[in-house]
Amino acid sequence: MTSSYSIYIHIPFCRHICTYCAFNTYADMDDSIQPFVDALCKEIAFVGKSKADLSVHTVFFGGGTPSMLSITQFGQILGVIKASFVLDKDAEITIEANPNDLTHDYLIGLREVGIDRLSVGMQSSNERELKLYERQHSHEITIEAIALARQAGFKNISLDLIFGNPEQTIDEWQATLEKALDLKPQHISLYGLEVKGGTVLKKQIQQGLVHKPNDDLAADMYELADETMQQAGLRQYEISNWSLQGFQARHNLQYWHNLPYLGLGAGAHGYANQTRTIVIRHPGRYIQAMNGTNLKEFPRSPATSKATLVDEDTEISETIMVGMRLTEEGIQRKTFFERFGVDVYEIRKPTIDKYVGLGMVLLDADCVRFSQAGRLLSNLILSELI
Ligand code: SF4
Repeated sequence: MTSSYSIYIHIPFCRHICTYCAFNTYADMDDSIQPFVDALCKEIAFVGKSKADLSVHTVFFGGGTPSMLSITQFGQILGVIKASFVLDKDAEITIEANPNDLTHDYLIGLREVGIDRLSVGMQSSNERELKLYERQHSHEITIEAIALARQAGFKNISLDLIFGNPEQTIDEWQATLEKALDLKPQHISLYGLEVKGGTVLKKQIQQGLVHKPNDDLAADMYELADETMQQAGLRQYEISNWSLQGFQARHNLQYWHNLPYLGLGAGAHGYANQTRTIVIRHPGRYIQAMNGTNLKEFPRSPATSKATLVDEDTEISETIMVGMRLTEEGIQRKTFFERFGVDVYEIRKPTIDKYVGLGMVLLDADCVRFSQAGRLLSNLILSELI
């Protein structure tokens, strides 16, 4: 595996929990934010202690709502990352942000501490949908936030959008797409709405207050999104992601190439040293664990709750599963051979031949990837491929 790492940092706090959200995040814990940041800095330093020469080329602050952190707190965390690892000069440093947090001063501060990419949770331009999700912003606020971000010097902005909402018509989805494109983002990520257990949305559906998502309508919305974005010059490069040329998310490419990343902060997942790690989920227990002095081997920290060794067969399956998500690049046969000493086609021949025959998978001397039609059935095909 490459020696250049990524770091994912999970910030498990939100001001309010959106109705569809099943992420590891907690509201009304503002008093825990600084103790959490202090614990996170200890965790970064702890993991870095045994790998001070480890080079890092992307850092991603996800959540939760990272934009609840102050500029001072981002400065504190990035300072410890720089002191603990070798952070590339041109590292991609992203934060996920809610539009309502992005004031002029805050955006200038983010640039000053070195954050160069914003992933903004626009979700929809439709006020009724934003209310249904219990988001804390309006589309007017998103427009203002993006304008301020540009003024502050952000040249790499991604928007997150949700489709497949049971109360959303295809025309409303088209309007959201067009309004998102009007903001001239470099990158767009789409999330098909899923109804997860324990969410408010799930209860609303069970009580008959909201309709169930319709899979056929969601598939139409996905196809419409692809057509609309391609027309605007954003190319699909991953099942759920579109970008202008040169603006693919470098951090997420690390996942899709199945390359190593440290997952730090409460609830974060990581993959390093042939080991998948999961950190304690609850911020209070995480803070407590990082007060301990348990000695752990890289990439574990005192707050690691689970560490699983990955054998080569599993690594091969995982590399196929995530690599097939890359719709343009697919699985590069040469790179795969250099890593595992086998040709991906040879080891998955019957399944690849079957789906090539059905027009769902494309195969040439360089790569294996989904066709346009295959993308819609990607989960089914992947379940046979891995
Ligand atoms: S802002 Fe994001 S992480 Fe927070 S509750 Fe909403 S969807 Fe979940």
